[in-house]
Amino acid sequence: MSKVLLISTGGTITMVRDAKSDALVPADIETFKAFMPELFAGGIHVDIQAFSPLIDSSDIGPDSWRQIAQMVYDRYADYDGFVVLHGTDTMSYSASALSFMLENLSKPVVFTGSQLPVGVLRSDAKENLLTAIEIAAAKDEEGNAIVPEVTIYFEDQLFRANRTTKRNAEHFSAFNSYNYPPLAKAGVHITYLPHLIRYSDPKAPLTLHTQFDTNVAVLKLFPGIQPAVVHAVLHARGIKGVVLETFGAGNAPSDQWLYRELKAAVERGIIIVNKTQCNTGSVEMGLYAVSLNLMKAGVLSGHDITTEALLTKMMLLLGEQPDKAHDLITQDLCGEVTVD
Ligand code: ASP
Repeated sequence: MSKVLLISTGGTITMVRDAKSDALVPADIETFKAFMPELFAGGIHVDIQAFSPLIDSSDIGPDSWRQIAQMVYDRYADYDGFVVLHGTDTMSYSASALSFMLENLSKPVVFTGSQLPVGVLRSDAKENLLTAIEIAAAKDEEGNAIVPEVTIYFEDQLFRANRTTKRNAEHFSAFNSYNYPPLAKAGVHITYLPHLIRYSDPKAPLTLHTQFDTNVAVLKLFPGIQPAVVHAVLHARGIKGVVLETFGAGNAPSDQWLYRELKAAVERGIIIVNKTQCNTGSVEMGLYAVSLNLMKAGVLSGHDITTEALLTKMMLLLGEQPDKAHDLITQDLCGEVTVD
């Protein structure tokens, strides 16, 4: 019988309505289990390891990422796959982080959650969780995991985690992977798309990376942005990396003050990466004259990466390999970016 470890961090899927405030709060793991007898009724052996207390994903950050990754690492030999229950709000950040932390992963780590709590009649919790477990346990004829990646399963699609963004606070289809197709689709059958799946060398040992340097920022440009705002971000104490969210194909206002601020920051050793504000498509510096100053200032191209993947990758590279961070940040480490 296949074995899956279910790591529960919390999120809406585990929540109940608080009688006093009427707000949703995470319940305890026993309450959650009582709503999910199906977990233990199928042909897959499921064990549960839960955060205590369960938390909303707005409270999840590098410490929790370390906790989740450590649980996978410590129990890696004992299970065929892992499912992580997580709130949807920051799921793309956590799942992206895990994809960089778990080098040479050869077993599935599937994140999922739900838009409605498990106890609500119309909840999407059961379908999401039961299918995620099936995907985590799925193997080919030779006994190898079909999707040995960190992924997000939601509604009826399986995505590479570090390509995802939460796109909808209302619809059951909460996530999208704008620049990379889904790895599998679930209907009556689960259809896997092996040519899109990433396989690491099965003989290479799983290596865990846990050092994050959180001295990073996201600077979103907008028409009318003031020098003082840019200056404040680029001079924030300890700042080492900046995700610069630009217009269209990676464009920015051509003001000289902006060029000078960016150039001076790069000269101070700050890594600045150009990420388009568009969900779909790629940064193409040099296509328009208004991106030439960014190139001249030493801003790097983020190509088609998501902000979630870029930010977590930046934190981990600055924490683990600060000397190589500048070179590695633009390279494809685990399928997160299309570099031509
Ligand atoms: N606020 C919740 C969370 O991210 C939302 C959800 O799970 O969908 O934990």
